[in-house]
Amino acid sequence: MTAPLQTALIIEDDAPIRRFVRMTLEADRWNVVESATLQQGLIDAGTQKPDVVILDLGLPDGDGVDLLRDLRGWSTVPVIVLSARADEQDKIAALDAGADDYLTKPFSTGELLARIRANVRRAGTSLRLEARTFRFGDVEIDLEARIVRKGQADVHLSPTEYRLLAFLVGNAGKVLTHRQILQHVWGPGHLDRDHYVRIHMSHLRQKLEADPAQPQHLLTETAVGYRLVEDAAESK
Ligand code: CA
Repeated sequence: MTAPLQTALIIEDDAPIRRFVRMTLEADRWNVVESATLQQGLIDAGTQKPDVVILDLGLPDGDGVDLLRDLRGWSTVPVIVLSARADEQDKIAALDAGADDYLTKPFSTGELLARIRANVRRAGTSLRLEARTFRFGDVEIDLEARIVRKGQADVHLSPTEYRLLAFLVGNAGKVLTHRQILQHVWGPGHLDRDHYVRIHMSHLRQKLEADPAQPQHLLTETAVGYRLVEDAAESK
């Protein structure tokens, strides 16, 4: 018995890139819907019920970030943004507006499919996350008892370190911006304190990573933020 096809919606005005993404996804057994404009993309997102959306930011009739703000009013579908390298601020704005991930053009098919898998899996596993235990590497986090173990040993985390870790776990696989982390862990009064995040992330790495200088799970997204990955092979 074959599983029903999952649907991906590509919102991108650049026809060669759209074709490239469609062929990549169809080869991976996805059903693909294409939109070339923001307006059509919003309509397709509502009517085609996609399992994932691949979104270009520069659309002829508007900005992908505006589409995201609209979409997030009524949908939690995973959204992966396609962005040009120079647009670091656009990328951050997109993540702050509710994108789950981004890819920089040009990107490889392997990376695109890995990001899609990770984000679709995360969307389908939020129930499992609510259920108590999360693991990465040899680390186990009991979210109910608030106990963290590495191998057989209990790891002591400060309340702030634990709050940061729990926020990363709740969004595993997803890129979190400095702003999102500051807002959630420290509160809206601390949005300019990027160094708080850096310091506490470094503590978490020292306590949880096999080699804190070469993290495999608590990853830096250069100039954007951080991402927790369960499976070290899926980091870039
Ligand atoms: Ca474009």
